[in-house]
Amino acid sequence: MRDSELTIGQKPRVVVLGTGWGAVPLLKHIDTSKYEVVCVSPRNYFLMTPLLPSVSVGTVETRTVIEPIRTLVGPRIKYIETECINVNPKEKIITCSADGTKEITVAASDRDKLPLEQNIEDNKEGGSSSRKIRDSARTRPKFDMKYDYLVVAIGSENNTFGIPGVEKHAHFLKEVLDARRIRSAISDAFESAMVPSQTDEEKKRLLHFVVVGGGPTGVEFAAELADYVREDLKRYFPRLVENDVKITLIEALDHVLSMMDKKISDYTEKHFHRENIEVLINTFVKGIKQREVIVQEKGSTELKSIPCAVVVWATGIKARPLTNKLRETIGTDKQNNRMGLLTDKYLRVKGVDDGTIYALGDCATIEQQKLLDRIQLLFEESDIHKRGALTLDEFRSLIENKINEYPQLEIFQKGIEKSFYEADKTKSGQITLEALRSVLEKADKKLRSLPATAQVATQEGRYVADLLNYMAHPTTTTTSERFKPFNYTHLGSLAYVGGDAAVIDFSGSKPLLDIFSLKPLSGRGSYYLWKSFYFTEQFTTRTKVLLAFDWLRSNIFGRDLSRY
Ligand code: FAD
Ligand code: NAD
Repeated sequence: MRDSELTIGQKPRVVVLGTGWGAVPLLKHIDTSKYEVVCVSPRNYFLMTPLLPSVSVGTVETRTVIEPIRTLVGPRIKYIETECINVNPKEKIITCSADGTKEITVAASDRDKLPLEQNIEDNKEGGSSSRKIRDSARTRPKFDMKYDYLVVAIGSENNTFGIPGVEKHAHFLKEVLDARRIRSAISDAFESAMVPSQTDEEKKRLLHFVVVGGGPTGVEFAAELADYVREDLKRYFPRLVENDVKITLIEALDHVLSMMDKKISDYTEKHFHRENIEVLINTFVKGIKQREVIVQEKGSTELKSIPCAVVVWATGIKARPLTNKLRETIGTDKQNNRMGLLTDKYLRVKGVDDGTIYALGDCATIEQQKLLDRIQLLFEESDIHKRGALTLDEFRSLIENKINEYPQLEIFQKGIEKSFYEADKTKSGQITLEALRSVLEKADKKLRSLPATAQVATQEGRYVADLLNYMAHPTTTTTSERFKPFNYTHLGSLAYVGGDAAVIDFSGSKPLLDIFSLKPLSGRGSYYLWKSFYFTEQFTTRTKVLLAFDWLRSNIFGRDLSRY
């Protein structure tokens, strides 16, 4: 333990855990003249996750979707490539270890000889996709570090729900190495099917690609794979593509993209049918074996086997072990929340009395006062409760001035208004408070947490930077105003569905010019919007240029089929 880590200098020290969507905007905007900022993360680069499905089939190359953290934030921030393994909120100390929980000894000279698969095998232990340091020649001692403020932005990990065989036989799609491994497995499947004397049955098994989970990750991967098969593999393996290739997407619920507008789910399912992607809805994956996926259809007790060789597992996310450990340290009575660290509306972790720990992104959930309770309060302040019924205009004016105070009310306003009309059975233009109560109860269920997206993490990261900067200037003119609680602005949800088509769902986003709301979009126009959005979202000019070249290259020359 070196003294410098445990002693804090002139400036308060802010330690940021993570180099992802939440941490990077914070690191870019925090005022380093006021704080000593230290970033700790086992991944020394930022990863553009929305482009991972494109990387897994070679439309976009690996280097295009990553940006070294050092070039992103510059020398003003101290970066340490290591993993935080414990937080002690009482002493305000974190413990870090580059090896995480496991010691692997590989001589430096052998390091480059390690096959990619072996990297991944270790990588997936404990369900985590984070990279482990495996070079014993380069020592990285365990150390403790003191902080004044800690920002936890460590993301999430894949959720397998404990389903047998997933860790061992399926591929995840969360980190850049996952995408490389899938790309290699696709190539391996085609080359294996080309070996003489393969039986027809075996060729069909080798070339059956199964995607589990009809959320945006599963949908986007299936779409990219179908593009790859049609645009490139068909040219080099025409007979296999004609006779043996099959892509199946399995979803436990009754439709894919269930978090989006129903029109989008319907469109995607029809579009997938045209793209030769079979969608099995109401089908639950119960287990994965080396050569098959075991499924059970809703309402049936029978288990079916689907022979296949490559399975991509995209059934959502769960909290990382460090998140759970910190929740336990704080006390689960104060952290009564399964999905992540519960925070107040200033993103301060609940139960940490001195308010020095912030959490954001996938590892955090903002505590929401129930919408029902909020509106109940508003009723009590007005005279509406005496009448027992209200009109939509009254409802609107009631919540109009409260939007800043109650973030998220705005997001759900449209949905509530729609339900309002549906609940107004008498068509008199007003509904009883009782009917409104049941409308709000439904909205409440949706309100429990913000979605685990880059969009949320980015806004939260920027917010915490602004808040910390504000706190460092207690005597500026802004001190008379209270710093506003975090307010999420939803811009809409996008997903690529293949065949040069994308879907865009604007529900929950701010209505255009406050007059009309945008309808869900789908098709080629949306695809160009999707492309331009992710192009402009690139953090640096370097990755913008690389991305433009990758798109051009795969359009003109096709994707690279080689296995590496
Ligand atoms: P991450 O970006 O995952 O960053 C977590 C960071 O913490 C990493 O740097 C990690 O190395 C580090 N870390 C982990 N453990 C520790 C530790 N113990 N100590 C220190 N550091 C640690 N969202 C969208 O809005 N739009 C999209 O189109 C979209 N597409 C996606 C496509 C895919 C394939 C995937 C997987 C996700 C996609 N998402 C998308 C979701 C989005 O990527 C996440 O919501 C976002 O990454 C969350 O940001 P974060 O900062 O919380 O976590
Ligand atoms: P998800 O949670 O959004 O979807 C997972 C799906 O898997 C669900 O529909 C669930 O019903 C299904 N499922 C779960 N267990 C199953 C089983 N055993 N058998 C069959 N189906 C099963 O997960 P995701 O798609 O990985 O996304 C994770 C997060 O990242 C989400 O918050 C998502 O919004 C975000 N994301 C966003 C985008 C985008 O905006 N384009 C892209 C990728 C990911």
